[in-house]
Amino acid sequence: MCPEKSNLKTAIWNYLESRPRIVRWREWLSGRRYRLASVPDRSRPLYVIAYRVRDKGRAAEVGRALELDWVEVPAQCREYYDEILFRAPQLVVIQLHRTNVCGCLGHRHAAVSEAPFAMPHDAFGGEQAGEMDIACEQILTWQALPLSDTALDAKFLQGSRLEEFHAKQFRLRVLSIILHETNHVVFPNEPETSIRERSLNFYREALADYTEKAVATLSFTLDRSFSRLE
Ligand SMILES: [Zn+2]
Ligand SMILES: [Zn+2]
Repeated sequence: MCPEKSNLKTAIWNYLESRPRIVRWREWLSGRRYRLASVPDRSRPLYVIAYRVRDKGRAAEVGRALELDWVEVPAQCREYYDEILFRAPQLVVIQLHRTNVCGCLGHRHAAVSEAPFAMPHDAFGGEQAGEMDIACEQILTWQALPLSDTALDAKFLQGSRLEEFHAKQFRLRVLSIILHETNHVVFPNEPETSIRERSLNFYREALADYTEKAVATLSFTLDRSFSRLE
């Protein structure tokens, strides 16, 4: 991680700690928690994952998608977001929900609703933060690519690696939704069709690449166990 970003992380934790004790207690008791995460090879944005304590596991998966899965995605997919990430606000809040009443997987918020980040602050460079919400349970059951998703399930079913595949698939979906909403934050006037095309291409190509590599190691393992039988 570039030093600038680790400084920013420290500054944000210090800022959160510096708030009046009563405010922090109320926040803690209400079950509000924060987690900071960013993609390692870009200077911005730093994402603040705002979640309820009961969703700690999901927040960790979102963090993992940004910090680990992103760098495993083929370089050409990451390049789709070069300019978007470059122009992103220093800080982007992700409100982690289980579901959205309207059924959407995510939204860009025109104004930041998460209290500590609603106003520009020195701790985050005096810039206005961006904000989005994502609905993690809806993302879990989202049929992004109905036909190929089912075909991929069949491949992994043969290899009993289905659970691992589904976990990775969920994180790649989350990543594509976060990038999709970041795209809305940075270019609010870009039409939905083009934003959607970019994020679906990202997801499709990232998933295809993962599958190809995973299936290759899977058949390698099968070959080896067959040769041991001879
Ligand atoms: Zn909606
Ligand atoms: Zn959209």
